[in-house]
Amino acid sequence: MDLQATSVTRADSLREALRRLDAAGTGVLLLQQPDGTFERTVTDGDIRRLLLDGATLDDSLERLARIRSVVIQSGQASQDALELMNTHSINHLPVVDGQGRVVRLLDRKEIDEQILLSSPHLGTHEREFVEEAFRTNWIAPLGPNVDAFERELADAVGIGHAAAVSSGTAAIHLALLLLDVKLDDVVFCSALTFAASANPIVYQGAEPVFIDSDPQSWNMSASALEVALRDAKARGKLPRAVIVVNLYGQSADIDPLALLCRQYGVPIIEDAAESLGARYKGRPSGTFGQIGVYSFNGNKIITTSGGGMLVSDDEAFVKRARFLSTQAREPALHYEHKTIGYNYRMSNILAGVGRGQLKVLGERVAARRKVFDRYRSALADCRALSWMPEPEWSHSNRWLTACTIDPRQIGMSSVEIIKQLSLERIEARPVWKPMQMQPVFAQCRYFKHDSRSVSQELYEQGLCLPSGSNLGERQQDRVIEALAALLQR
Ligand SMILES: *Cc1c(COP(=O)(O)O)cnc(C)c1O
Repeated sequence: MDLQATSVTRADSLREALRRLDAAGTGVLLLQQPDGTFERTVTDGDIRRLLLDGATLDDSLERLARIRSVVIQSGQASQDALELMNTHSINHLPVVDGQGRVVRLLDRKEIDEQILLSSPHLGTHEREFVEEAFRTNWIAPLGPNVDAFERELADAVGIGHAAAVSSGTAAIHLALLLLDVKLDDVVFCSALTFAASANPIVYQGAEPVFIDSDPQSWNMSASALEVALRDAKARGKLPRAVIVVNLYGQSADIDPLALLCRQYGVPIIEDAAESLGARYKGRPSGTFGQIGVYSFNGNKIITTSGGGMLVSDDEAFVKRARFLSTQAREPALHYEHKTIGYNYRMSNILAGVGRGQLKVLGERVAARRKVFDRYRSALADCRALSWMPEPEWSHSNRWLTACTIDPRQIGMSSVEIIKQLSLERIEARPVWKPMQMQPVFAQCRYFKHDSRSVSQELYEQGLCLPSGSNLGERQQDRVIEALAALLQR
């Protein structure tokens, strides 16, 4: 906002004030005293009342009452500004410096809006597919959208087969069932992840063992995995599976991990819940394990409101996943069961949403990468900030823009920054709290990356910024300005 253009003095005429109001379009002018300090605001209504009182357009603003308008000192949080606006029923609030000069005019529209970390972003085709399901009464349980969504997703990532299920968590659970994980088995899992990667191990009565991250990819460290596998072999109990997570849309460095797993004969489940649309050495993320898993939860890069997909080149796995996820009903007229089943299938309605979302996946990846690039270039001068690296073999979908803050350089922790941003109505989050630090997994074994605990370092210094593909540039600028102000303090 051009402060000069919205400022007037008492020497100005009513005509001049109206002209400026008209040009500024803010509905409010700033009346300044001859020494440049702020006196009061002037609105259309103030001028209207003067005219009704008998003033003419050529009279000066001397006729205005001498009142003191509400102001806020610079450096206060948006939340305080909003409270003042609410208390005084106003939509504009001048920000003044120590000398009483206006440095900025806050507009309620700009600060009232909550900026979310990652919100759903619908395309234009979801409704057609959902309406088709309604029109044909194919609401539930399965139907043509489910079959088509499975085919279309498998084709999009170049894998043989896919089973649409009710969540990413369900897909991980099914993957463990397919690999015959049972009571007292051991399953390795990335330490730095969301709890849903590890919970299904415990559903099966198996023991999770957590593997640290490497600093290059933030994902599973090959050296930590090697030590863990060697240790497991020495104990005479190799893991039944290794769950490799691709964090924040970036693939793990799969090749060395897969090589180790082959050497020890252990299958990989690739938890690609966050990395649909990303690539590793040119090939789609989620297609590297014996089984891959995607999530369509509301905050993921594409969403069905809730849902997941299990993928594999092994058709038998995928067929069995469909069987187990529909209550393990044997093909018989009566209900015949030889196995414990689950109610994990995706509905035909939600698959319709998924088909529409899949059409815009490429755009969503491009938009999220652009958000990341914009933050990075705008905040390039902030030396305390380090961005999540993208090794040359990785093409991340940048699901979330993640960075670390060096507290020694700014004397403020990432948690403090998150709190300050929330006062600006900006939702930021720490990096996932690693599983070995979670009370529920405190007894579990954990293998560090050499002598460092990289996942813990990333948790303690990490920060995820609003990253939605539907985030406007003005909203991104609010994040950038707020963060820059905090880091330059
Ligand atoms: C979201 C997520 C899941 C779980 O997916 P849901 O569809 O929410 O059940 C699993 N793993 C990771 C890494 C995730 O981010």
